[in-house]
Amino acid sequence: MKIIKKFLYSDHEIFLRELVSNAVDATQKLKKLASLGEFNGELGDLKIEVSFDKKKKTITVSDKGIGMTAEEIKKYINQIAFSGATEFVEKFKDKTDAKDIIGKFGLGFYSAFMVADKVEVISRSYQDNADPAKWICDGSTEFEITSSKKETRGTDVILHINADSEEFLDEWRLKGILEKYCKFLPVEIKFGTKEESVEDGEDAEGKKKYKTVTVDRIINNTQPLWTKSPNDLKDEDYLKFYKELYPFSEEPLFWIHLNVDYPFNLTGILYFPKVKNDFEMQKNKIQLYSRQVFITDEVKDVVPDFLMLLHGVLDSPDIPLNVSRSYLQSDANVKKISQHITKKVADKLQELYKKDRTDFEKKWDDINIFVKYGIISDEKFYDRAKDFSLFKNVDGQYFTFEEYKEKVKANQTDKEKQTIYLYASDAGKQHSYIEAAKNKAYDVLLMDGVLDNHYINTLEQKLEKTHIKRVDSDTADKLIDKDEKLETVLTSDEQEQVKDIFTKAINNTHMTVSVEPMAADDFPVVITMSEFMRRMKDMAKMGGGGYAFMGSMPDSYQVAINGNHNIVQKILKADSEDAKVKLAKQAFDLALLSQNMLTGADLTNFIRRSVEFVS
Ligand code: ADP
Repeated sequence: MKIIKKFLYSDHEIFLRELVSNAVDATQKLKKLASLGEFNGELGDLKIEVSFDKKKKTITVSDKGIGMTAEEIKKYINQIAFSGATEFVEKFKDKTDAKDIIGKFGLGFYSAFMVADKVEVISRSYQDNADPAKWICDGSTEFEITSSKKETRGTDVILHINADSEEFLDEWRLKGILEKYCKFLPVEIKFGTKEESVEDGEDAEGKKKYKTVTVDRIINNTQPLWTKSPNDLKDEDYLKFYKELYPFSEEPLFWIHLNVDYPFNLTGILYFPKVKNDFEMQKNKIQLYSRQVFITDEVKDVVPDFLMLLHGVLDSPDIPLNVSRSYLQSDANVKKISQHITKKVADKLQELYKKDRTDFEKKWDDINIFVKYGIISDEKFYDRAKDFSLFKNVDGQYFTFEEYKEKVKANQTDKEKQTIYLYASDAGKQHSYIEAAKNKAYDVLLMDGVLDNHYINTLEQKLEKTHIKRVDSDTADKLIDKDEKLETVLTSDEQEQVKDIFTKAINNTHMTVSVEPMAADDFPVVITMSEFMRRMKDMAKMGGGGYAFMGSMPDSYQVAINGNHNIVQKILKADSEDAKVKLAKQAFDLALLSQNMLTGADLTNFIRRSVEFVS
């Protein structure tokens, strides 16, 4: 008992779950016997009642189930319950994760002794002429068994609450525990009473009259939605149940009703929520049940990681809850369940995609995070998702992988026969680059989600002969190298001069200047960061192992001077070295400005110079 108490310190409340579960089992067993014709008496009202007495310091759980004879009490309570507890302690007394284990499973009947220093069981078996019996025990190996006068069938378990556990002698505390663990148990559970207003005929003028009556307060919904057949349910039912589970949440997008009985048992409903930015808030919302008894809302090992943002309930008697985390991860059933959930999610997404593409596109902004995470983390999921996963471009059009390849192949394949997909991570900030790419009739994807850096890396490994480049990673001409040489109006001597002037004006060793033959109507100066460099920086930012050193390195950029722009002619013809540098500086600052990179003294000086030029 000492060991158990120590481990269970924060989880004492589960005693109630255990005792009510036993009462439910006893009731279900009786129903079963009745259905088999082995019990022919009246089943009557089978409600389970939980009550407490603050003065006597007792909590009582009463059922009208199968009951026990004195012999059965000795066998089931003394031998089974106690030996179960003893075995448990033997096994786990040296393990540090024992708390985790018992907290999630409990010790059945024996857990009563965590909160009580004396427990009474008064029971009358369903069998004809069974003598009612009374058992009293203080948690030691000593016990007392006598006959009792109990007149009704079933079992009362009376806990004499110990001094440390008086917190449980409280209506709200007990109600809270019952609502947490017993909310969906299959037998009605009464806890106290409540006042209810009901119609009471009509008064002389024909108006309805009402009166207040006292009714049993029932804690649970005995037929939660997941136990019903999907064929009998409407959308409203699922939405209503969602509200019951998460009273303050926005409506979910859609849901999956799970119903498996081979090779493992699993029922449940998983909802796809509208994903908000505060991911952490939305995680750990799936509740795990075992035969309608709430177990935990930490489903980390049962549900694949990429689906942790889903909401809903899972119910499986096959999940081994009484074992440690590491065991859970390697458990074959758990693995199968996780794979099954992945498959069902893929099926559902595919079905939605096939049924109504337009609607699927509307949902895409909310669901892409699941799909992308799934693609990144699960090979099998990728195999399914590659058919319905969508690309969205900066104009808000959606394409499947296949469609997109077809769309851009002709115009966006480089001389190495690699197809180049261009993307923007921020359509606002990269606007001028997007425009430049569009001028070349290139398409630009929008990749502005939190996972997109990883997603792009994964896609490059999966898609054949495809490279993915950010739209500002090079000048528009060089983004896709088609070996088309543009003519330059500059002599090589002039090119050298221009390069020198700009290098002097920019005066920054992390900016590499080159003079490029670009279209005359392109911008005069374009600043880019190579795709490679930027990805390394992104990795470093996200804490990617080997890239950490990049975090401390200064950003380095390429500065392309448009040799065909008339500003260049102007610079070359300016009458002094000073004037040349000044003009170059102005052109460069404009490029910085378009990149949101012009700040501080540089910005102030730029404005001064601009004012001077204008006036
Ligand atoms: P478990 O429920 O996991 O079998 P417990 O320690 O909770 O283990 O209970 C041991 C046994 O005692 C049960 O299997 C059952 O046979 C019997 N028992 C416990 N509570 C009741 C009850 N309320 N009515 C009838 N039998 C009960």
